[in-house]
Amino acid sequence: MGKAALSIGADTFAFFTRNPRGGKAKAIDPGDALALRTLLQENHFGPLVAHAPYTLNPCSDKERVREFARLCMAEDMERMEYLPGNYYNFHPGSHVGQGREKGISQIVEILNEIISPSQSTIVLLETMAGKGSEIGGCFEELREIIDGVKCRDRIGVCMDSCHVSDAGYDIIGDLDGVLAEFDRIVGLSRLHALHINDSKNPAGSRKDRHACIGEGTIGTEAIAAFINHPKLKGLPCILETPNELDGYAREIAMLRETERAAK
Ligand code: FE
Ligand code: FE
Ligand code: ZN
Repeated sequence: MGKAALSIGADTFAFFTRNPRGGKAKAIDPGDALALRTLLQENHFGPLVAHAPYTLNPCSDKERVREFARLCMAEDMERMEYLPGNYYNFHPGSHVGQGREKGISQIVEILNEIISPSQSTIVLLETMAGKGSEIGGCFEELREIIDGVKCRDRIGVCMDSCHVSDAGYDIIGDLDGVLAEFDRIVGLSRLHALHINDSKNPAGSRKDRHACIGEGTIGTEAIAAFINHPKLKGLPCILETPNELDGYAREIAMLRETERAAK
């Protein structure tokens, strides 16, 4: 992973902690993890942003599904300690008709079981598009989850540009306003990472389909304004665009160019 990231000019990256569809994780080779830590340090990488399997649903109406999410996430917390001091991002889940209050309390319950005060990993709630019964499509829901978490210094947010736009936040026309709203409801100090994606759908569509940068409804200019915003500067930016390695290399180079132009 580290060598691939280096080869495309990245200085952070995301990785799935196990098969993205969930299931059993391969045992970690401690020597390999140490080699990666050395590579990251030598090449001045910023913090990494791991991603939980996207099939986990911590607020399912089925006990068995919630239990699976709890087990995976608890094990992932142990796995993350092989690469200390990084982020672990997850989708809060879909309440599937149970109602948002119930869903939020189930998410909080799992977070309080898996997060320990001694861990070095900060767990991030991802802002969601608000598709179906998805929780996390508005800042208020993220705030409610954070309010329920006991280890308050081990919880934060990762903002996904495609998701917030699809959720109806006008990051194209009024980014300052959206960030002010986020600050008022959640607090910008809780924002630790960004997912950088264009969107195949118009703002407010609640769809969640990522597009390559410049090929969607957000556009290169608004994405550049987002990553170069003074309040967001320095946060790890993760591309989740539909690309292979060479496509990511081009997008990274293009976005770094906008960074130089913004200076
Ligand atoms: Fe995600
Ligand atoms: Fe994302
Ligand atoms: Zn998405």
